Amino acid sequence: MTLNIDEEQDVSVTKGMIRAEFNFWVGIVMDKFYDGLQEKKFIGTKCSKCGKVFLPPRNRCGDCFAKAEDFIDLPETGILKNFTVTTYKISERKTRNVKKDQIVGLVQIDGADSAMVVPVININPEDLKIGMKLKVVWAKNIKGDPNDIAGFEPIGGV
Ligand SMILES: [Zn+2]
Repeated sequence: MTLNIDEEQDVSVTKGMIRAEFNFWVGIVMDKFYDGLQEKKFIGTKCSKCGKVFLPPRNRCGDCFAKAEDFIDLPETGILKNFTVTTYKISERKTRNVKKDQIVGLVQIDGADSAMVVPVININPEDLKIGMKLKVVWAKNIKGDPNDIAGFEPIGGV
């Protein structure tokens, strides 16, 4: 799409910040996911056509576009598909830049065909290995939001 702007039109630009607090509904599928977190469990969805399992859940299969609205309980364990080390947290905007290294991992829960972006904890970056087994560490205060996942740690130590 091309936007034509009349060059003779007066345009004023004001730079600034607007604080806007709002709530929005994440939809049936993610609502169920967060309900599961409140019970310390992972709830994904399964494609009705090809059987692929998604966690985080999605309501349409990205491969065959069929509905993926069958909810499925998934375990607390998975494998590390990839990772990066950053000073930015993936949640909590107010404390986003923590000025110390954080490991952000791409973790595929056992039985799922997709992966989640989550903190990886209780391990030094140099000890990480793609394909290593991890398990969830739940937050102390469960609230039904992404912060319920404190992170994933290696199974059986390093
Ligand atoms: Zn499918």
